[in-house]
Amino acid sequence: FRSTEYEHTDEMLTIFRNSFGLKHFRPQQFEAVNAALLGINVFILMPTGGGKSLCYQLPAVISKGVTFVISPLKSLIIDQVQKLNALGLSACHMLSDADSSAECDNVYKELVKQEPKYKLVYITPEKLNNSSKLRNVVMNLYNRGMIARLVIDEAHCVSQWGHDFRTDYKKIGELRFTLMPNVPCMLLTATATPRVRNDILMQMKLSVSETASVNKSAFKSAFVTNVQNNQMNKLETKLNNRHYMSVSMNSLPANNQQCVFFMQSFNRENLQYQVEYKTSNAAALEKISDLIKSKYANKSGIVYCISRNECEQVSEYLRKKQIKALPYHAGMDDQKRQQIQHKWTNNIDCKVVCATIAFGMGIDKPDVQYVIHLSLPKSLEGYYQESGRAGRDGSKALCVLFYNNQDRQRWLRIISAEIKNKNSIAYETHVDNVRRVAQYCDNQTDCRRAQILEYFGEIFNREKCIRSKMNTICDNCKLLETKKSKSIDMTEKVKFICNSIKHICLREDITLLHLADILKGSFNSKIVEKNHHTLEFHSKMDQFKKCDIERLLRKLVFSGYLKEELKVIKSSEIVACYVRPGPKISEIFARNFKFEFELIEDEI
Ligand code: ADP
Repeated sequence: FRSTEYEHTDEMLTIFRNSFGLKHFRPQQFEAVNAALLGINVFILMPTGGGKSLCYQLPAVISKGVTFVISPLKSLIIDQVQKLNALGLSACHMLSDADSSAECDNVYKELVKQEPKYKLVYITPEKLNNSSKLRNVVMNLYNRGMIARLVIDEAHCVSQWGHDFRTDYKKIGELRFTLMPNVPCMLLTATATPRVRNDILMQMKLSVSETASVNKSAFKSAFVTNVQNNQMNKLETKLNNRHYMSVSMNSLPANNQQCVFFMQSFNRENLQYQVEYKTSNAAALEKISDLIKSKYANKSGIVYCISRNECEQVSEYLRKKQIKALPYHAGMDDQKRQQIQHKWTNNIDCKVVCATIAFGMGIDKPDVQYVIHLSLPKSLEGYYQESGRAGRDGSKALCVLFYNNQDRQRWLRIISAEIKNKNSIAYETHVDNVRRVAQYCDNQTDCRRAQILEYFGEIFNREKCIRSKMNTICDNCKLLETKKSKSIDMTEKVKFICNSIKHICLREDITLLHLADILKGSFNSKIVEKNHHTLEFHSKMDQFKKCDIERLLRKLVFSGYLKEELKVIKSSEIVACYVRPGPKISEIFARNFKFEFELIEDEI
């Protein structure tokens, strides 16, 4: 699809080649630029590095008037404006809070001119919310028909379900309606689960076009095809028929509420995913330092930790092992953090950053060869983002996640401490996010990519992982290439376990790990002390590995047959997690109840 039918095509191609210095469009860029130039609201979902910026920068240069770009990070804004100016394109930013600053003053003076020279003006959401002067200037431009487009970069910040929610982002939808109701907008993000995606649309008061006047099947196939099957060809055929474009163009309602999607596959072919069971932090650290020393001695990487303390400790541990590591977390002042980021980015006496998730947006180092999670991330979406900082340059990179049950419970405790209202949607969502990412770790049989992509609403065929060109097969696919998994019938065992727990819970509190010890048949001091070695289900699963027993118990929790309850121990700060019968426990007594459990064959 290289249509020259649009008036703007020649100019667009010239600027693409001569100003941006590029030769070929990446998937979906051409279509998205066209859609923008036709005045349609556009939602672009592409993984990091996919080339989102061009989708609004190219139309901005061609369109009459100014394109406002809202972006969350000052460093990102400075970077973008510098790049555009280096290409000889007229872009500026307003970062200062003070309208009287030289920076803002200059921009204001230019914007009130009949033909402002700036094509792109970058602002933070805070600036738009806090500066009435800016809003007046925007309205003035709007009334003169001089606003080409409103661009919202990192649009997931609009949604509280996204991993980087920003209060000021939430207000953009309202501001767009009051300040520039008929200006087309473009939303861009590298993350969006179906839930976040819908929330962004809702916050921005947009809906996917499905009205009768719009050719429904064309829209649907564009949307569904990309999301579900990732078959770009089909979308291109539709666009080729001019079906989709022309119909949506002519039928855009005056209230400008509709939106078309451009979505690329979120598969990162060059990343190799791996999950490691963590027996202890010390053991994991040893593995990490061995891995770095043997395979990544002079390469850059990130080790993600949950707490600030952990960052410091891990960094110190690695330094002792002669690995150039530095910590990074929100407990450090801005200057210190910038300094560390600078050192790492420029390879100055720092190869590894041991960081909390504060080390996030705006990190744009192309040659990160590994991202290791020492502990469970907060959500699968967060994991995709954090691990996604590896291999931006397209070369092969490794993503390892260390996981055990304590980490999962640690998150539950953190969430419990942060969100007091246990019946709130926020609480449930966070708990559910932890559940999903723990499930990902526990799953030893499904392709890691397929699991991650499914979370983003994309269907992925594991054959593509097995036959990956860069040999980045995930650990699960690799294992199943050599060993077979087998589903074993655990119906009777599960009935017995759940039933026993139902009774024992009435008398005492048991944690999931303690329960696993009992089932394994341990005689550790805690078990003997509590007389648990005399319980009927002691040793009931002694032929299984301890980690598999834990996995089975978690599967029972995830399926709702059991549940875990957080309980504050006697007004102390410690919150313990105890096993209880789950909401679905009665189902185990149904006649047709069946429970299957996957084991890798040599473990059976
Ligand atoms: P994103 O915002 O999706 O993370 P960027 O817009 O920053 O990605 O683009 C990533 C890199 O790819 C940039 O260096 C950009 O110049 C480059 N790029 C974008 N589009 C093209 C293209 N069509 N051909 C070659 N390079 C491109």
